[in-house]
Amino acid sequence: MGEYMEDKDPLKKYKEKRDFKKTPEPISSEKTTSKNPRFVIQKHAARKLHYDFRLEVGGVLKSWAIPKGPSTDPGQKRLAVHTEDHPIDYINFEGIIPEGNYGAGTVIVWDNGTYQNLKEKVPIEKAVEEGHIDIWLEGKKLKGGYALIKTGRGKRKFWLLLKKKDEMANSDEDILVDRPESAICGCTIEEVDDTKK
Ligand code: MN
Repeated sequence: MGEYMEDKDPLKKYKEKRDFKKTPEPISSEKTTSKNPRFVIQKHAARKLHYDFRLEVGGVLKSWAIPKGPSTDPGQKRLAVHTEDHPIDYINFEGIIPEGNYGAGTVIVWDNGTYQNLKEKVPIEKAVEEGHIDIWLEGKKLKGGYALIKTGRGKRKFWLLLKKKDEMANSDEDILVDRPESAICGCTIEEVDDTKK
């Protein structure tokens, strides 16, 4: 029943959580059939700073909140909490969600680009369903193989984001510290906040 309702409008949860008269976040979803599906990672200074990892899958953005953010180090497992699907238009969203609204705080596009499904025999929709995604990212910052794997805990919510061991892996850098800026405006969260004061 719940699944059926979700299938009718995959953005139902997204819309229920937000008042679009009060938040600048997008309500609509552009209809695109891009050859290479896209991804975005938004840095979101909400009550707690986190990074939102979103993959273009089947006309929506499948989404995970990553408290510690992504890593280029294959030795790092990063918790990724599965959250509600977002509209495709969210892929370019940067701005300030005002106080009192869901997710209030500043958002920048920390990284964006395209991805490839590394599982030749499993469509990406099915990989999400099964809780094991293997992808190659071609971002401005993140590149190479990554895996998103559902853990046994908390039904469907808790996943892990892992950097795969390949030539793009780097255990010596902290890319979150080295490259804090937006992939769109080049500005940091702090600079966006300063312009609104
Ligand atoms: Mn968020």
